[in-house]
Amino acid sequence: MKVLKFGGTSVSSVATVKNISEILKKTDDNQIIVCSALSKVTNMLEEAANKASQKDTTYKKVCTEIKKRHHDFIDQLFAVDEQGNLKAIIDHHIDQLEKVLEAVYMLNELSQRAYYIVVSFGEKMSNAIIFQYLTIHNGSVGYLDSSEVIITKFENGKEDVNRSQTYKNIAAAYNPENKITVAPGFISRNEKGYATTLGRGGSDFTAALYAAALNAMKLEIWTDVSGIYTADPRKIKNARPLEKMSYREVLELSNLGAKVIYAPTVKPVLDANIPMVILNTFYPDEKGTLVTNTTDIKNPVKSFSTMDNIAMLSFTGTGLVGNSGIAGRLFNALKDVNVIIISQACSEMAINIVINERDADKAVEAINKEFDFEIKGKKSILPIKAETGYSILAMVGEGMKNAAGVTGRAFTTLGKHNVNIHLIAQGSSEINVSIVIKSSDAQNALEALHNEFFKE
Ligand code: ASP
Ligand code: MG
Repeated sequence: MKVLKFGGTSVSSVATVKNISEILKKTDDNQIIVCSALSKVTNMLEEAANKASQKDTTYKKVCTEIKKRHHDFIDQLFAVDEQGNLKAIIDHHIDQLEKVLEAVYMLNELSQRAYYIVVSFGEKMSNAIIFQYLTIHNGSVGYLDSSEVIITKFENGKEDVNRSQTYKNIAAAYNPENKITVAPGFISRNEKGYATTLGRGGSDFTAALYAAALNAMKLEIWTDVSGIYTADPRKIKNARPLEKMSYREVLELSNLGAKVIYAPTVKPVLDANIPMVILNTFYPDEKGTLVTNTTDIKNPVKSFSTMDNIAMLSFTGTGLVGNSGIAGRLFNALKDVNVIIISQACSEMAINIVINERDADKAVEAINKEFDFEIKGKKSILPIKAETGYSILAMVGEGMKNAAGVTGRAFTTLGKHNVNIHLIAQGSSEINVSIVIKSSDAQNALEALHNEFFKE
């Protein structure tokens, strides 16, 4: 059996929904299909929730728009006699949504629990539509309610999936007599039974959980681009899709914020060693990118990626040199901040910390507080400041492990293009080299490196 995930843009037009139906007809194997909400609907639900919590009555307009969007889509997809009670199902969900939003409005507050309920309606509605479409065009179809079987638990400040419980539930609930089973993406519940979600972009993760639980022979992620690219095609015109990548490479890239795949998706398929393919619903005959535990090392670097809005903190002073325990206190002070890169040269004169700009004030305050005595009293540590306006440029590829001179080539290229490097970090895995540069240099640097490593 195989699991296929279709993203929001793949379930938003008549043409792509037809493509989905055709794609499913290509095999006799059992298939589970996991769909996202219609594109932008989750954003609209978030917008409505925020408005309601701020006593802004225009949240009602947003609800009306969401309802109309689904009704119009049903009219485009189905003749009247095919629609069954689909519009009534949508209206029922919208009714529920309005009730929750009214409560949010009354309370003047959006609780985490209310937020989860509100955003879960997108997937409930889109999957009801797809279910009806496939029932008409692909024969008998089963439905598996992800909000019943995918279980999360609150850990480390967020909802995490309880994988063993989830796998048990899926195995028990799945009925292999149905050739096709529709299972909504993104939605889940926690151990107490309250609605939760797997996080924005989480439908990929839902699909990976089904694949791992049922030991699928393949996971297909159908989206609106033709795979994982050598660089973001919106930034680099001649970027091209990669044929093959390893789980590790994809994990590195998705953690960098590359939008192609939601980062937590990789772990379940990696652990169960299930091949994953990223494909384009708009061009279903293209090959896409195959992700397995092997990679081709034709190119030592697979992909370049940039991350903007980065701040750098430099922690310096005579107090650092030869003293133990300083780094421990520093990292403890940063326990609530997402640290992206840490670097210290062996002279021990400075520790550099790279974070998101939005975390800069919090980080500076926490460090200055922890080292108040060293900064103001002993003056052995300089007050910390955040410098903003940086970007991280990362090169990712398993082939860098065995190839000498790759970083040398990259740095020479950047030098030739007058790009000043502020910080370099490479882990011992050698899969990822991250370079911090000024954001004003980022496009130039990305183009230069992509041309150097991917000239035809
Ligand atoms: N609809 C959800 C979102 O937009 C989940 C997904 O699309 O994967 O974040
Ligand atoms: Mg989405």
